[in-house]
Amino acid sequence: MGDLSYRMIYIGGTPAGLLGLEELFDALYEAGHTPEDVDINELLLRGVRQHNFVPKPAVPDYQAVIGNEYQKYYQKRSVGEAVASRDYGQWEGYPREQIPWFPVVSAELCNGCLKCIEVCPKDVFAEEENGKVAVVEPFLCIVGCCFCKTACDPQAILMPNKEILDQYRHGQRHAT
Ligand code: SF4
Ligand code: SF4
Repeated sequence: MGDLSYRMIYIGGTPAGLLGLEELFDALYEAGHTPEDVDINELLLRGVRQHNFVPKPAVPDYQAVIGNEYQKYYQKRSVGEAVASRDYGQWEGYPREQIPWFPVVSAELCNGCLKCIEVCPKDVFAEEENGKVAVVEPFLCIVGCCFCKTACDPQAILMPNKEILDQYRHGQRHAT
């Protein structure tokens, strides 16, 4: 598993570190699988399970989140946007993709005011066709920042608890 990609993703409200997601998306895309394929959820789950443990009760959450990620990947790649892993730098010596710090937007609560985009110094958010906002570049988010959460009146933005960062700051993190 030496060179597999690794990134943090929120599944069912909990950060999970996943190995090999980028390679899986590349392989499915190159094999011609679209996000609309009837068996895409099964293929994604099988692929994720090659390198990660997915508890049975969490399967629907995994499928929803990974399916959504594949959709975003597919859209970008089909219009020729680069999807090769970009370098997000490091934080406290860890690759940025391993730090579970980024906003999660509730589509139900978001009223499309765009204040989060105004206050964010990075290109983390994008406005969607439905007028709401989506997180498109989670790893550009500045670790420890909470500007957007504070600016969001309907409290549609969830940020992790700052304590989650302590284990990285003090080098207490161990591979599981
Ligand atoms: S600030 Fe909150 S309500 Fe306004 S667009 Fe951003 S997420 Fe939606
Ligand atoms: S926490 Fe800060 S850097 Fe991160 S998305 Fe919100 S405003 Fe942008």
